[in-house]
Amino acid sequence: MTSPADIPDLSNLWMPFTANRQFKEQPRLLAKARGMYYTTVDGKQVLDGTAGLWCVNAGHGRSEIIDAISRQAAELDYAPSFQLGHSDSFRAATAVTRMMPAGMDRIFFTNSGSESVDTALKIALAYHRARGEGQRTRLIGRERGYHGVGFGGISVGGISPNRKAFSGALLPGVDHLPHTHDLSRNAHTRGQPAWGEHLADELERIVALHDASTIAAVIVEPLAGSTGVLVPPKGYLEKLRAITEKHGILLIFDEVITAFGRLGAATASEYFGVTPDLMSLAKGISNASVPAGAVAVKREVHDTILGAAANGIEFFHGYTYSAHPLATAAILATLEIYEREQLFQRARALSAKFEDAAHQLEEARHVIDVRNLGMVAGIELAPRDGAPGARAAEVFRKCFDQGIMLRYTGDILAISPPLIIEESQIEEIFGKIGAVLQATA
Ligand code: PMP
Repeated sequence: MTSPADIPDLSNLWMPFTANRQFKEQPRLLAKARGMYYTTVDGKQVLDGTAGLWCVNAGHGRSEIIDAISRQAAELDYAPSFQLGHSDSFRAATAVTRMMPAGMDRIFFTNSGSESVDTALKIALAYHRARGEGQRTRLIGRERGYHGVGFGGISVGGISPNRKAFSGALLPGVDHLPHTHDLSRNAHTRGQPAWGEHLADELERIVALHDASTIAAVIVEPLAGSTGVLVPPKGYLEKLRAITEKHGILLIFDEVITAFGRLGAATASEYFGVTPDLMSLAKGISNASVPAGAVAVKREVHDTILGAAANGIEFFHGYTYSAHPLATAAILATLEIYEREQLFQRARALSAKFEDAAHQLEEARHVIDVRNLGMVAGIELAPRDGAPGARAAEVFRKCFDQGIMLRYTGDILAISPPLIIEESQIEEIFGKIGAVLQATA
């Protein structure tokens, strides 16, 4: 049992993306994490079905990462990121590059996915300006896209609650492609749905409306995670690539969730065989041990921006903590684990098992869709009358109480475990969800 001494004063912290009042009535506090498990403050073990927030891909408490961070903290706690450097920032950039598609070998470090997205959008505009096409400023996102919480990210993002309170202050000149989620056609698809490629043609419509000469970039998540695991239809990303290329528009893949193994490949770009011009990264880059993010940039884009500048600063952008020594230590140690343990290959090998286990829930009570790719699955529930999201919230709470951590968004459950997961744990997660669904009104 939790003793009152274990529970701190909860009043001062304003929690992000949380129903604060509700949470504080019934707090779920985590105290420790090792391997596949969290331990709560009252000593309960919880199997991590979501790799934290889609980020702890190598599992928790990896000693190699802990050692690297503590060695670095003792050796060089901080180095200014502007006009000075430290060796590991360059080594970390090279290590990230090794996991990127060929040619995407220039790396700009940030501290989060939101910063990576806004950085990528700014690079896109700077690129066109450097080419003498400074009028290309329009940005195109997608409905149900999540690109973090910066003003750039919520502007190109397609989640209305995230935009509503700020609607007067969103970036001007932003359009949205339609999302690709259609249960009437694609319910219970294993892997990529066959229907929906033509939705990429909407980009041609937007281009015709505004003229390509005004459009800087298109940004999409190759697989949308936060809005409920939306797997791209076959041929869809290829088509977006072809249309953007044809019109000189940059393509940005927001791979904050998908990079570093989630789909059983280093990146979604590699998995789908579609290479963007820019890629936003975070989460798995450091196994979430230290906040870190990056933008991977095609060499040509980078060289164009540097080439257009005289002898001064080429890109007026950066963070005090870009390539923070603790982050670069964590990144180097993390990427080494991914490589040494072949975790992306492991994820690919496990993904058939994961798919089978997920789709066992097709007939479970309340389930209207099961979808999956690599080591991520979404289970969509029929909403309860008059209370959208309530059913998934209940399943989430019951699963947590029974020792399984999931995520939910609306009435969609998301499962995205660390890539070190064992087959028996995959069975346990989906089996427990099935049992909880059966016992949920
Ligand atoms: N982009 C995508 C695709 C994401 O999934 C997320 C986080 N879930 C972000 C951006 C924002 O990342 P952060 O929370 O680190 O700012």
